Amino acid sequence: MSGTAHTTGAQTAQVRTIGRVTTLATPQTVLLASPRGYCAGVDRAVQTVERALDLYGPPVYVRKEIVHNKHVVESLRARGAIFVDELTDEVPEGAITVFSAHGVSPAVHADAEQRGLRTIDATCPLVTKVHREAVKFAEEGYHMILIGHAGHEEVEGTMGEAPDHITLVETIDDVDRLEIDPDTEKLAYISQTTLSVGETREIITRLRERFTHIVGPRKDDICYATTNRQLAVKQLAEQCDLVLVIGSQNSSNSLRLVDVTRELGTDSYLIDNASEVDEAWLTGRRTIGITSGASAPDELVEQLVDVFRSRGTTDVRELEVIREDVRFMLPKTIRVEQSARDAAQV
Ligand code: SF4
Repeated sequence: MSGTAHTTGAQTAQVRTIGRVTTLATPQTVLLASPRGYCAGVDRAVQTVERALDLYGPPVYVRKEIVHNKHVVESLRARGAIFVDELTDEVPEGAITVFSAHGVSPAVHADAEQRGLRTIDATCPLVTKVHREAVKFAEEGYHMILIGHAGHEEVEGTMGEAPDHITLVETIDDVDRLEIDPDTEKLAYISQTTLSVGETREIITRLRERFTHIVGPRKDDICYATTNRQLAVKQLAEQCDLVLVIGSQNSSNSLRLVDVTRELGTDSYLIDNASEVDEAWLTGRRTIGITSGASAPDELVEQLVDVFRSRGTTDVRELEVIREDVRFMLPKTIRVEQSARDAAQV
């Protein structure tokens, strides 16, 4: 950026262009939430598609977005992944087909088998855990209240495990409107993995008030990554004038990070990448926080930090709230194929 002048420790940087001066806001401090970004389930799902491309060569079909992030989807598409909404005739018989991290219903598995597809299931193990709970509760004769967002792929997959035994609620009002006999003997609740921790707790409290005997899973269904990122952004929000959340508009856990921040009275915006920052948001901000949803790669955070550094911000720090150390093994199909190839090379 030629002609850029930074003022030491000041709030603005000036970019001189012929005939005019544009003033760019420069925060004194940029704080990075930790943990942020990729969770173990997303890392595994993205690696699954990458390995499938390496092992079998393109094209590799992927049902739905492998994870809810535009940048990730575009990068994999460039390498030869073909994303489809459903398993229609567009996916040829015998094609390698990956199921996304959000999980699929048994009907989708059956459809894939009928079409003769070679499937690799990249469903996050923590979503699979919720599917198992749904199956178990249904087998034991329970009716379930699923707390989640209508239309979300994870919710569709979970409901598909026991469609006649599940009622979806999104809000406390939905709980109040439930037309379920309070004396229904066997009632249980389960939830989507990427909800607001606080809001879900309130919904569960309301469920317990209305249905005193309702039971739930032994441990919360909201996953560790969602919980940790929300805890971290809460602390970040307390120390910043503005929090920028990197993630895509269809990413549930990224949207929750914005909600949680705004609930604490701190301004927050969801952006896919640095190019979406609106200059007006930055005016007068001294400390800007950055975090990212579980499906957003850290290079997007680094690019945004570089924008602030290029304007003169030197105080860039991590705010570590929790240390994460969770890893998931790649799907068995990938591991077996990789071992076979390795053995053939010996
Ligand atoms: S956000 Fe949670 S449930 Fe979803 S992929 Fe990541 S770890 Fe799994």
